[in-house]
Amino acid sequence: MDRLIDHALGAYLGLAVGDALGATVEFMLPREIAHQYGMHKEIIGGGWLKLEAGQVTDDTEMSLALGCALLASDGWNGKAVAEAFVAWLKSGPADIGNTCRRGIRRYMVDGSLSGPVNIGDGGNGAAMRILPVVLATLNDENALEAQIIEQCHITHNHPLSDSASLALGKMTQILVKGGGVKSCRSIVNELLAEHPEFRFSPYPGRASGYIVDTMQTVLHHFFGTDSFESCVVDTVNRGEDADTTGAIAGMLAGALYGKTAIPKRWLDKLDSQISSEIEKQVEELLRLAQGKVAIISPEIFCAADPVK
Ligand code: MN
Ligand code: MN
Repeated sequence: MDRLIDHALGAYLGLAVGDALGATVEFMLPREIAHQYGMHKEIIGGGWLKLEAGQVTDDTEMSLALGCALLASDGWNGKAVAEAFVAWLKSGPADIGNTCRRGIRRYMVDGSLSGPVNIGDGGNGAAMRILPVVLATLNDENALEAQIIEQCHITHNHPLSDSASLALGKMTQILVKGGGVKSCRSIVNELLAEHPEFRFSPYPGRASGYIVDTMQTVLHHFFGTDSFESCVVDTVNRGEDADTTGAIAGMLAGALYGKTAIPKRWLDKLDSQISSEIEKQVEELLRLAQGKVAIISPEIFCAADPVK
């Protein structure tokens, strides 16, 4: 398999696999997970959402909605992205974060693509869905930064969410393009210089949906493990917002190690409709990044008609 495709697919399938694995233990504490599962490392569904094994949650679904909007519009179109989120909300998702719901409803009421700065609310809901933008802007760092911020602000307008999303986006992009852990370190060092609250060593031990807790957990395990499986397993066993920390850790680890490093038993368990949507989006998003005309295959998942 082509190296670029392997690592782009690794990031997207890694996101979905981390989401599906982590969802089982979302909102549990590490000692509750240990008591019930020992080490949780199989995709078995269940959890508070009572999922089927291999089912994904809002983290993957919102990413797919964003990717679909990028492809339908042949690139960035904020209104198309917001409309894709609306269509997803109307589809009756199994779960949705409060800030995401509030942001999508605001857009439905006033059509605005950004809410006011909300200092009290630094959730991880915007950072979890950046991947399609990362892939679509693979050859354009300025576009990456602008589009990440715009997609974040549709639901989350918070400086820590913005900075974390930018750092994750740059890391993922560098990894997909063949960079290594060392380049990621310097991106994270810049993040820590700007926002010391993200410091993750010594690991503070919280894995909640607060973007600071989420980033500390993801970065601690991303830098502290040496395989896709150990990165994602160690991350989700921290519990709390485990589907989202799992999704983000899976995105980074998949971008670093490639699809070929994702355990086959997890890929086999993943909802086959989701994996085929991901495979189609990766191919088309990379084409978009190369500046070629994206030929949108009709099977690509679109929750709504594209907005031009
Ligand atoms: Mn979720
Ligand atoms: Mn979550």
